[in-house]
Amino acid sequence: LADSCDVVIIGSGGAGLVSALQARELGLRPIVLEKMPIVGGNTLRASSGMNAAETNVQLRHGIVDSFSEFYQETYQGGGRLNDPKLLSYFTTHSGQAIDWLHWHGIKLNDLTITGGMSKKRAHRPQSTAPVGAFLINNLLWLLAQVEVPIFTNAKVEKLLKSEEGKIRGVEVDLAGQKQTIVTDAVILATGGFGASKELMKRYRPDLLSYKTTNQNGATGDGIKLATQLGAQAIQMEMVQIHPTVQQDTDHTYLIGEAVRGEGAILVDHSGVRFTDELGTRKVVANKITDLPQKSAYLIFDEGVKQRVKALDFYLQKGLVLQAESIAELATKLNMEQTTLHDTLLRWNTAVETKKDVQFGRHTGMQRKLIQAPFYAIHIAPAIHYTMGGLHIDEKTRVLDENGEIIPGLFAAGEVAGGLHGNNRIGGNSIAETVVFGRQAGQQVAQYLE
Ligand code: ADP
Repeated sequence: LADSCDVVIIGSGGAGLVSALQARELGLRPIVLEKMPIVGGNTLRASSGMNAAETNVQLRHGIVDSFSEFYQETYQGGGRLNDPKLLSYFTTHSGQAIDWLHWHGIKLNDLTITGGMSKKRAHRPQSTAPVGAFLINNLLWLLAQVEVPIFTNAKVEKLLKSEEGKIRGVEVDLAGQKQTIVTDAVILATGGFGASKELMKRYRPDLLSYKTTNQNGATGDGIKLATQLGAQAIQMEMVQIHPTVQQDTDHTYLIGEAVRGEGAILVDHSGVRFTDELGTRKVVANKITDLPQKSAYLIFDEGVKQRVKALDFYLQKGLVLQAESIAELATKLNMEQTTLHDTLLRWNTAVETKKDVQFGRHTGMQRKLIQAPFYAIHIAPAIHYTMGGLHIDEKTRVLDENGEIIPGLFAAGEVAGGLHGNNRIGGNSIAETVVFGRQAGQQVAQYLE
């Protein structure tokens, strides 16, 4: 491990790897430090897509979209608590971010829809492979071509600053060996704190009983490291609960919104629908928690299954119940056959007439649930994402309690707060890592000029 470099990037999820590539392409020599034995962070688990508006991909699918609709729907979904400057930068640079990936051979040519969005703007690979792993694998390959070193088991424990308050290095524990790296710039890309009992206890003690979809390393380190230098953390109590998580085994499996986006419905334990399945995550999670069993079933058919590749994986893992008919599925789920039949009949009528008289759902209605086999997944809400985090400006510069810039300190991705308001829209976090990861790389280059 070198004892100095242009910029230290902490974290190897989407934000870290994108910022590394952007910085390298602007002529810098970055290094990436990852505390876990594997790279990829929570990004590796992302499955829905990357939201963007006014893209060429959308136009090729016949979808006319606009930055302002993307802005408004994200703002609405976030309880109007989103930082307008961050949100504006984000939405107006989303299309370029898709193009940038495309240039690098990372093609997200397929589209799906997520909760709270009125247009198909979640871009994903044609192969229907989960977007996160696709992005990370491609970025790793690209970074290897330009010789950016990435260290695993490398945990940053302290940020160092000079007397005049500028970043001057980091202290890292590399597989048990402590070392100082001298650098004038640091990009914090450490992700959120969804797996930190300590921070959850401090900010959201009411959520301590929930499981999490996060990887073990999502413990808010970046927030702690930066606040020790005087950085401000904002909206820390805004924690997202994902509505559809299979948690009957030791591991939690997030069943992505794309399953509903492609046409799945949710029913309670008696087999009856209870919500617009594509309302925002906050609304849908609350509806499930309000049910007596605090859990529900996702119901879909072979047509939906073929549109979402991850479902094959869940089937292999034994998380999906399969039946040759609706009657058989009802029996397996301990439901009245007539009830489930009636639910599907009403739903298919809603799809056909494009009118969901019961709950007013108006997206993810492109196919009826009629093609055997039929499937069910038992789901319940779990901690998924932490909207709060470090206060940054639209140039990803970290701000202190007085709103002043901490020179040399940048943050991008889930570690930063403010973009999502009190509820993140599915597909916006991958987009955030690319849009603001690129921005961080660019701003560091300018700062070091
Ligand atoms: P994002 O989506 O914002 O890129 P991810 O969760 O995908 O965030 O990635 C963040 C990465 O940062 C994770 O792989 C996590 O293990 C890593 N990380 C967190 N804290 C540290 C730390 N102190 N030192 C090095 N890496 C860290």
